[in-house]
Amino acid sequence: MRTAPFTLALAASTLAAAAQQPAPVRLPAPEPAPAVYALDDALLQWPLSASLQAYADIDGRRLHRYVVDQAAIARRYRDNGHPQFWGRITGTSADAESADWLAAHFTRIGLADVRVQPIDLPPQWMPQSWTITASAGSITLPLDRSAQPAYGSPATPPGGIDADAVWVGTGSDADFAGRDVRGKAVFMFSMPLPGSMTNTSTAEGGPKRAEARGAAAVFEVIALPGNMRNMLYPARVAIPVFALGMEDGYAVRDLIGRAGDRPPRVRIRLDVRQVPNETSSLVWGTLPGATDETIYVMAHRDGWFDAATDNASGVATMIGLAEHFAKIPQARRRRTMIFVGLDGHHNDAGVGRSWMVARKDVLFAKTALAINAEHTSTIQTYFYGERIRRSNTYTAQLWYAGGPTRPKLQDLAIRAFREFGVSTYAEPEQAPPPGDLGRFFRFVPGVDAGDFNMYFHTDGETPETVPWTGLEASTRAYARIVDGVNALDLKDLQRPPEPDPTPR
Ligand SMILES: [Zn+2]
Repeated sequence: MRTAPFTLALAASTLAAAAQQPAPVRLPAPEPAPAVYALDDALLQWPLSASLQAYADIDGRRLHRYVVDQAAIARRYRDNGHPQFWGRITGTSADAESADWLAAHFTRIGLADVRVQPIDLPPQWMPQSWTITASAGSITLPLDRSAQPAYGSPATPPGGIDADAVWVGTGSDADFAGRDVRGKAVFMFSMPLPGSMTNTSTAEGGPKRAEARGAAAVFEVIALPGNMRNMLYPARVAIPVFALGMEDGYAVRDLIGRAGDRPPRVRIRLDVRQVPNETSSLVWGTLPGATDETIYVMAHRDGWFDAATDNASGVATMIGLAEHFAKIPQARRRRTMIFVGLDGHHNDAGVGRSWMVARKDVLFAKTALAINAEHTSTIQTYFYGERIRRSNTYTAQLWYAGGPTRPKLQDLAIRAFREFGVSTYAEPEQAPPPGDLGRFFRFVPGVDAGDFNMYFHTDGETPETVPWTGLEASTRAYARIVDGVNALDLKDLQRPPEPDPTPR
């Protein structure tokens, strides 16, 4: 019986520390033994059957180097004066570097008409810097170790905010009941909901509730073991909103819990600019085929932090497909393949894809297939105690393959996923997984498989969380789908545009 001794030990240490020092509360998490192999060498690789050797040239280890290269672009940007808000962020020098890097790959591969098409952006939200501390008695916690403003958060007034801290549980009405939060810095607990592009406290209206009750700022403590920086999508309130790592969040919670009648003071300064006149780009390359019918492969280039799964993985898959098909003689490629590195959508805009949608009658009149390569490989992780454990395989993917009225496309996608070991859910999505294909699939036969993982939009989403085995499996499956589609006629694939039943 382990539980009782542990509880006693915890209670004793809590008592000892009760006077001043915040003692982080820890749940029992048995330490694993040291690793006996390097995970990267032990990833489970799906065997390639004799009949599928035509796809052997798609090499996951090579594709993984493209993920590492893109992470390096993001880190260069970080190390060049952007230590807090960094990544391959649309409109920045990292965006320009990623565009040139991709165009150089397209040229190296031998694609035709390689070009970087400039895209004018509306003013871009760019947080410049922030500092945040919470203090009680002699203790000061530097919360900017993990605090990250939610996308679109307003700045603080020039003098900053100096406010009492208050804890409001999960941010529901029940949590706010009877609490005065006026003028205060409000902290709430939140579970990430990566596939839904949100987190529980935002989804349930916690920040809006705080704003309506006169709070000065909101901190959403994201329940991921460790102290990761999280970029949240907009909370759409007029007060500053931050994500906070779990260790920092628990430390504040404990400080509030101990402080009694004199709550901790939180000092917040956030400098944000709306930067006009920035540009991004669409990066194009073409592999001419035997006809003017087309197959598109798209991948968004932008992302936060290393953005290794989202979306260095998808860009690596796109490059892998270009490399594979460029080796096949033009006469044996039924359709012209068009590769597009999209500017991206993390800036709450997606200007490049809107440009393409506005020209859909020209661009997609003879399109047999559009593959959106997005989040094509992620390490399988599990919660074990208050710890994230990594396994030696990749995660299952949400998927969409043309929908129920394109049974031939869906059947060949299912077959390809099985043949190459792409794990998926049994049920397809009714629309593509959240991402760029959502703007195209109503008028183009689209295929998209991708995952929204535990590290989604955090600084934990490093190249080590993108298994090369998953890159290999997904990219080979997409190549197989292209070949399968090239055995079908346009009439088997195209259909009248669907109405949008769920306008967003
Ligand atoms: Zn993405």
